[in-house]
Amino acid sequence: MQQSKLNSSRRNFLTQAGILAAGSVLPVELLAENTEEKKEPIIDIHQHIHYMGRTDDHLIAHQKAIGATTTILLPAGRPVNSDATHQGLGNGLQAQVGGNAETYLFAMAHRKHFKFGACAVPDAPDAIYDIEKYLKLGAKVIGELKFGVECDSPEMHKIYQLAQAYDVPVLMHWQKDRYFYGLDRFYKILEQYPRVNFIGHAQFWWANVDKGIPQDLPMYPKGIVTPGGLTERYLTDYPNMYGDLSAGSGLNAFKRDEGHGSAFMQKLQDKLLFGSDCWDNDGIVDAKGECTGTPMIATIRALSGSKAAERKILYENAKKLFKL
Ligand SMILES: [Zn+2]
Ligand SMILES: [Zn+2]
Repeated sequence: MQQSKLNSSRRNFLTQAGILAAGSVLPVELLAENTEEKKEPIIDIHQHIHYMGRTDDHLIAHQKAIGATTTILLPAGRPVNSDATHQGLGNGLQAQVGGNAETYLFAMAHRKHFKFGACAVPDAPDAIYDIEKYLKLGAKVIGELKFGVECDSPEMHKIYQLAQAYDVPVLMHWQKDRYFYGLDRFYKILEQYPRVNFIGHAQFWWANVDKGIPQDLPMYPKGIVTPGGLTERYLTDYPNMYGDLSAGSGLNAFKRDEGHGSAFMQKLQDKLLFGSDCWDNDGIVDAKGECTGTPMIATIRALSGSKAAERKILYENAKKLFKL
């Protein structure tokens, strides 16, 4: 069935291309291109250029290896020594990540497979100008925002207002006592900006799948999850809240208790987005455990419960949310 479909579409392609004349030689690269289009597409909503010093060639190879057909590259803001970056610690998103201009230029040079976001350090005086410049150039999202500020600070309100004006989502990295404060009152922001879509990411966001979250919270808590945590409540109660499955935090939230992970994934299948956010070169799972993209795709396939839910999380939700 699949083979005959492929054959017939290949025939159509060849006819359209006008190269089905008897005895003609099929250009190999055209055939390869056509076959590649038949792969099930995957949107990776969370990657970076220059991540921990990775080269552009390795980024391209990594995204190909994990099977991402479209990748959203999230820049860091212009380096600033301020409270929001903990006097410089958070520059480059604390991972040598490339900035707006570099990310934009790379995405433009590889526009078939890469899109870009826009970012700035919120307490920098020109933050809003910087973000708006790249929104005007076509940025699909504001992020990655990973800064030591209150989630409802005046600076963040300006960013939310800009997101509303340009109709793009906002992606935030929540890490306890370091990046964004006030997750327990973030519902007020969700209610104040019902037309802005927010994407939750990182350790503290995913630790909160657990209603029984401990006070002395480790970065990657293990063990059985008590349902009904803050993350589940936000994703369930607010149509404008989404979850980013990327990085060790996303993977751990589903691997630590696969029974809960599967129920959570099925229930919230319209609100979850695949992302990789790993800095390895080759997309291979090895002893170092750096690659989270490849195992997260496998986890989605194993726990999502249906092909329809799997496709939503790997592709359709992101296509809709980012208007791809
Ligand atoms: Zn990231
Ligand atoms: Zn990887």
